[in-house]
Amino acid sequence: MDKNCLIFLVILFLFGVPKEVFPQGKGAYPFTPVPFTQVKIEDQFWAPRIETNRKVTIPYDFQKCEETGRIDNFAVAAGLKEGKFKGIRFDDSDVFKIIEGASYSLQQHYDPKLDNYLDSIIRLIAGAQEEDGYLYTSRTIDPQNPAKNSGDQRWSFIAQSHELYNVGHMYEAAVAHYLATGKKSFLDVAVKNANLICSVFGPGKVRMVSGHEEIEIGLVRLYGVTGDKKYLGMAKFFIDERGNKKGHKLFGEYCQDHIPVAEQSKAVGHAVRAGYLYCGMADVAAMTNDSSYIRAISRIWSNVAETKLYLTGGIGAKEEGEAFGDDYELPNATAYNETCAAIANALWNYRMFLLFGESKYIDVLERILYNGFLSGVSLEGDKFFYPNPLECSGGYQRKPWFDCSCCPSNVVRFLPSIPGYIYAIKGNNLYVNLFIGSTVSFKMNGSETKLKQETGYPWNGKIKLTVNSPKEQNFKLYLRIPGWAGNQVVPSDLYAFSEKNKPKPVVIKVNNKKTNYSMKDGYAVIEQVWKDNDEIFLEIPMEAKRIFANEKVEAGRGMEAYQRGPVVYCLEGIDNNGNALNAVVSDKNNIGYSFEPGILKGVGILHFKGQQIAKGENPEVKDVKLTAIPYYAWAHRGESSMAVWLPQKIK
Ligand SMILES: [Zn+2]
Repeated sequence: MDKNCLIFLVILFLFGVPKEVFPQGKGAYPFTPVPFTQVKIEDQFWAPRIETNRKVTIPYDFQKCEETGRIDNFAVAAGLKEGKFKGIRFDDSDVFKIIEGASYSLQQHYDPKLDNYLDSIIRLIAGAQEEDGYLYTSRTIDPQNPAKNSGDQRWSFIAQSHELYNVGHMYEAAVAHYLATGKKSFLDVAVKNANLICSVFGPGKVRMVSGHEEIEIGLVRLYGVTGDKKYLGMAKFFIDERGNKKGHKLFGEYCQDHIPVAEQSKAVGHAVRAGYLYCGMADVAAMTNDSSYIRAISRIWSNVAETKLYLTGGIGAKEEGEAFGDDYELPNATAYNETCAAIANALWNYRMFLLFGESKYIDVLERILYNGFLSGVSLEGDKFFYPNPLECSGGYQRKPWFDCSCCPSNVVRFLPSIPGYIYAIKGNNLYVNLFIGSTVSFKMNGSETKLKQETGYPWNGKIKLTVNSPKEQNFKLYLRIPGWAGNQVVPSDLYAFSEKNKPKPVVIKVNNKKTNYSMKDGYAVIEQVWKDNDEIFLEIPMEAKRIFANEKVEAGRGMEAYQRGPVVYCLEGIDNNGNALNAVVSDKNNIGYSFEPGILKGVGILHFKGQQIAKGENPEVKDVKLTAIPYYAWAHRGESSMAVWLPQKIK
């Protein structure tokens, strides 16, 4: 037993299984998330979705993996079954991601059947691992005939083989499984594989990088639970080698492998790869205090927020290469906006918050959550969007599965982690970042405290927080005041609210009395000694607001969009005389709102007076009533046209 392992076992004995999602302690992120295991969501919006993920999407995704040979690939590689490799070379990663999601779900809702099922799959995965730790069923099953684009030999075509991408997801899944169950069965497989990677790659060894980033995040998580610094060093090596032409022939912009990462200033190439790289850079920077990474991801973040962020929080404008477009290249109908890219963007923005503690990063995260991410999964939890366009002339629907099913398996791991984004702590400061009905337990000044949050968000902006603490507590409460509540659509001038939408002041009361607060980094800060049953009331005025895009966005010229609270709206043909395109809001100052519990699992709807061109031989402009639904809920009622951006005048 090596020294690190012994220390780890002693820590485990003294403190039990670590529960932190992000590695903690010295050299970690300055801001600490309250992990999702300490947050219980009790609301009408997210709780049912997380429950659908648990009851429908997790078993559904596993069933699809069984039907498509993804599980059998491990059994065949383990020699337990006859057969050939089925599917795409990186299909192993889907199984890993679903195990990760299932593990988060187990922590929230223990299910012995699911626990046993995971054990059975992990046995197959362990069986598929080669003697020296290598794990990639595409090659192991028939090394002479690996699946297309796997490369003739191990790591010989690393730009496209995804061997390292796959295992990055495995490390994340293994850590999640270990934290959920305390079992080391999967973690042992991950550690054995990571040790092989560390023996093959590095200074004086193979100096290559993965064409698709992810291993960097996985290695840091492995470092987080094992405390073994060589995994952190390996993650840093892979990041430093990116764009370093002395080490390997560069893969180019598509893989963010064109110049050294510390010199990069623009988001380029494949959007999911890019997002995972920026997450890995944030993680390594936080653990090693590398300021050059922090400067680079700050520049890149500004580039995205100023020129490459869709109103829905989506990123990656182009279908070709699933990639970022040029600055301000944000087409609507052909917007790619892969669901995985929305998730990568959310993961990255949260890490930016953990570095800087500024609310603008949560503004972007919230925009993604309620719009560009949520559209990726059907209300029933068994159909998925891969691209998430902002306009459609009809015919585009969510699908049950894809040959490349990265998005369904990403949704399933992201949804149950959402409670972990609500609260964070720094010293004696408690941050309330998201408004989701929940109860959180946290330690303040060494003693256990609870806070209950009650709200009807995202349909109304009233939020009540109740302190539950046996002892009086002196801490600062940081309440996020969303950018949209003021005059900022996103943290840049990429979009703007109509000047007629003058922001109304938020109301903050403590125990029913107006209270003094200061504003810092986008938060209302209240400092006082808190007693049991103290009530904090926050009201963020919520009304429909009209939005324009920066003139430099060609697809936004002469157009407008609508948002209420954090929710972006769209017109769908089914509600608007069969055609969502070329409909105009004529009375922009009187927008009706109603909550409709009976449709689309309960949604807030906007009502407008508008105009449309009536169909027929002599097209004429007609006065009509228009109805907008939340963007995330579109494409649930048959094939229909859809538009987020509406022309300001009939074309
Ligand atoms: Zn995807």
